[in-house]
Order: sequence, then C-alpha cells, then structure tokens
Amino acid sequence: MTTSSKSQRRPEKASPENPPKKRKRLSNALAENKFRAEEVGLWFTDGNIIIVGGSTPFKVHRSVLFQRSSVLKDMFSLPSDESELMEGLPVEYLPESRSDLMYMLLGMYYGQKYLGHKKVVEFTMLSALLRLGTKYKITELREEAVARLRVCFPRRLGSFINSLSMRNDAGFSCVPDVIAMGISDVLEVINLARAHDIPDILPPAFYICSTLSPVQMVPVKTWDDDPPTLLSPKDLRRLLRGKDSLIQEDNDFMLLLRTEFRPNLKSCKQLCHRRFNAAFNSNPESLPDAGTFLVQNFWVNEVLPDKDFCVDCIEDMVEEVNRHRREIWSNLGKTFDCGPWPLPDDVDLEEESDTQS
Ligand SMILES: [Zn+2]
Repeated sequence: MTTSSKSQRRPEKASPENPPKKRKRLSNALAENKFRAEEVGLWFTDGNIIIVGGSTPFKVHRSVLFQRSSVLKDMFSLPSDESELMEGLPVEYLPESRSDLMYMLLGMYYGQKYLGHKKVVEFTMLSALLRLGTKYKITELREEAVARLRVCFPRRLGSFINSLSMRNDAGFSCVPDVIAMGISDVLEVINLARAHDIPDILPPAFYICSTLSPVQMVPVKTWDDDPPTLLSPKDLRRLLRGKDSLIQEDNDFMLLLRTEFRPNLKSCKQLCHRRFNAAFNSNPESLPDAGTFLVQNFWVNEVLPDKDFCVDCIEDMVEEVNRHRREIWSNLGKTFDCGPWPLPDDVDLEEESDTQS
C-alpha cells in the first residue's frame, strides 16, 4: 500500500454558495485520495455511487452493494437530502477506515484473487472481512473469515498440530497457509472471537497466546493510527492463570519423564530404561519449555526419535508425550475458562452462519 500524504491542502474559502468549511475540506481530500481507490481497482468508470471510508472515495456499483448486503441496501436506498456530489455521483460516508472499507470491497469484487483456494490472507484483511462482513451482513465475507480462523484455531488437536505449530520470530506460519499472522495478532483473534461470536476458536487461541512472552502479551503501539491490541482485564487474567497452570502441568509431566517413566520395559533388548531417566535428568534443557508442549511438534517428531534408544522405546515415549498433549488439549476450555470445549463431534460448525440472519 502507499504511504499516506501528510500534506493536506488548505480548504478553499467558504462563501455563501459553498458548503461549510469542514465538508469542503473533505471534498478536497476526496479528490486528492481518488488515486488510492484507482490503484487497487476500486474506481470503476461505470460505477454509480461513491462510498467513503476515512477520506478515501471508492467509485463502485449500487447493484453490487445491494445484492451482497441487505444492510447497505437499506442504508443507501433512502433518499439523502444532503446530497454531496463527486463527479456527478452521490457521496455516501461510512464510519469505517479506508483500509477496512477497501478490504471489504476487495473481498466483494475480487474474491477469487484475494480469497481463492491457496491464497494467504493478511490478518488485517481477515479482521476487516469478519468485522464488516458481520456488521453489514455480507454472509460470504464473514464465512470466509470464520472458516480461515477455524483452520488456524481448530477443534481437533491433530489439525492444530498441522496448522499452527511452527513459529518463528516474524510470526506464525500456518500449514496450510490461510492467514498471515504476526505475534500480537493472536491476541486480536481472542477479541474478534468475543466480539463476533466464534467461541469455539477461543481455547486454541488462548493456548497460542499463553506461549507468548509477557512483553508480547501486552504489546506497545505499532502504527500511528492503530492502538495496540490489548485483551480485556478478564481475558488477560484467564490467559495468565491458564499459562500458570499449563506450566505446572508440563513441569509435572517432565518430572515424570525424568524420574518414573519406564518405556517398553518388557520387550526392550537394549535396556533403554536404565538410561532413559538419567538421560533427561542429566540434560533437562533437552526437554521443551514448560507450557509449550502443544507447539513442540519438532521436539516430538524429530528430536525425541533421534535419541539413542531402541525403536520400541521411542515409540512408547512419543505415545506418552502425545497422551499428555491430548490431555492438555481436551482441558483447554477449563484451563482458560472459555469454550464450548471440547466440541462434541456432532456439532456442525459450518451451520453457525444460519443463526446470523
Ligand atoms: Zn528400548
């Protein structure tokens, strides 16, 4: 996207035949910002309505807006007496920011390009699609956003391992890639789930947030216009309490691995059990950090099998770790006091949108 131009032209003199200063200033800004719509393909020469987000005008089609959104249809069907014109067309101001409105229109007009199969959606766009899709009842935009969130924050541990387990400093890479997310975006996922009624993604979202550092949990301001994402005091409390209890559970489990656990005692021919506890005891840092077992797939799939034990014993150990992970997963609702969790198999999440209208 472009950088915003700081230089605002002075408004022209107000005269009896000119509209008041403020509106005049807006009109100037609209003309100046028309290029922003043009460069993203949202200035259609045959458009028949101008809608404005922030101070950027978009020249689009009433028929497209009306067909996709009953709310916009109701809003713009009323005759507006205070008719401001731009290029001879009525101008309608919406309370949304430029980028929110842009993402909504891009989703409407260029769905295949931005939301097609295997397309990764930037989190800012996903957030806009969910918020505006819900507000203006644009069902397919909301459903698209919710479906992608459910890929990243799924109901099943097996899917979670596949989708949100690989982390680096830049953010999360989802497999399959459906949303490009930064670290603090995951906090916003919790706020979005609360505000837009997607409670089933809360437990895995809380889990991911609980693996953040304290500084990441309370981020500072990043962009001039956007306030930093903060959790509500209640959710922050849920997050911190949950984190404490997960650390405790993982520590208890690792103590078990280091002291009592005996892999495959009967059939092992290499006497692994004699060396097993000692190996972890003498080298505790070879174990994952407490509180992160669900995102430690590399440790489970690569590091653990690489240890110097027989195949059968490794299998036993991996199963023991996975049993611990399944227990953590099924308790996420209790751990973070949210839910519904775990979701019964017969709940069909795809039908949730039916209850929206
Ligand atoms: Zn063995």
